[in-house]
Amino acid sequence: MSDTIVPETQNELPPETDASGVATLELPSESVLDQTDADTSSDRPLTIAEERQLIIDFHDPSNLRWNNLDWITLGWTVVMHVGAVAALFNFTWPAFFAFLVLHWLTASIGICLGYHRYLSHRSFKLRTPGKFFAMLCGTLSAEGSPLDWASTHRLHHQKSDQKGDPHSPNQGNWWSHILWLFAKPPKGHWERMHRIYTPELVNDPILRFFQKTEFFLLVGSGVVLYLIGGLPMLLWGLCMRMVVAYHSTWFVNSATHIWGYRNYETRDRSRNLWWVALLSYGEGWHNNHHAHPSVAPAGHRWWEIDMTWMAIRTWQFFGLAYDVKDQIPDRASRKAGIDENDAPADPIAATSV
Ligand SMILES: [Zn+2]
Ligand SMILES: [Zn+2]
Repeated sequence: MSDTIVPETQNELPPETDASGVATLELPSESVLDQTDADTSSDRPLTIAEERQLIIDFHDPSNLRWNNLDWITLGWTVVMHVGAVAALFNFTWPAFFAFLVLHWLTASIGICLGYHRYLSHRSFKLRTPGKFFAMLCGTLSAEGSPLDWASTHRLHHQKSDQKGDPHSPNQGNWWSHILWLFAKPPKGHWERMHRIYTPELVNDPILRFFQKTEFFLLVGSGVVLYLIGGLPMLLWGLCMRMVVAYHSTWFVNSATHIWGYRNYETRDRSRNLWWVALLSYGEGWHNNHHAHPSVAPAGHRWWEIDMTWMAIRTWQFFGLAYDVKDQIPDRASRKAGIDENDAPADPIAATSV
């Protein structure tokens, strides 16, 4: 861990990123954005401000109604949980070993290293083979395509525990853990999310590839597992592995915005919670992460173990990862809080995505 002193007046983020580590995009000023035609019933294209408002309005528990359920996500989630219970009655050691390896690959390498710290926050850069492998692992986690995941996560940082946050416990603990997934998005929602929150990624050929092939890769991985080890391999290597990874990820959204301690006074409710950090390969040091989103290591004290950071360092050693933002804030900035440095009171005004 670095002992480098970071001056309090120095913003840790490069000019091209905002306080959440979110990429910036040249957009018209708010005054221009708010100039809408008086006739809102016309077929004119929506302004950016109106598109943002649609996104904020969607992430509200009032949209979770029986006549507005995302049956595909709900059905998939139920089937995976049933499969995980069935796995308990179909145990074999090879299947359990596959569960462990695939869980680490998809959750730590795919989600934590790939989707989160690399794609959403640009905490480091990846050579093309490393990028492809990390995105493949992330896709096989069945937590959504790279673009879906990154855009949702950037929205979470921009709106943390405010209206528009996709999964804040302010809307209820169960909402933040799982229920937020099951409201059916309005037409054009994901295109809008990608355009506004991941503008620099939408035309990336590798990400487009996984956007189009996600379903086939998931089905294909299930077929391969079944052919290798029969039903136990399918149930442990896919269902149990996904369900355990799901809840670990979801605990980061729910538990670490409810329980734990804070190293930094951030404007949200984020906390550091040791058992979530263990389950989620380091992501449970969530207050550290919200305070300094673009810093690659999530553990900022010596005892805050971060397995994903170990993987990033290993990838760096082998030349797969480079330009790693590894500067952990010094104690002075930790004590003083980071609000004046990189957590502005009005994230919307401060970011141009
Ligand atoms: Zn959070
Ligand atoms: Zn993040």
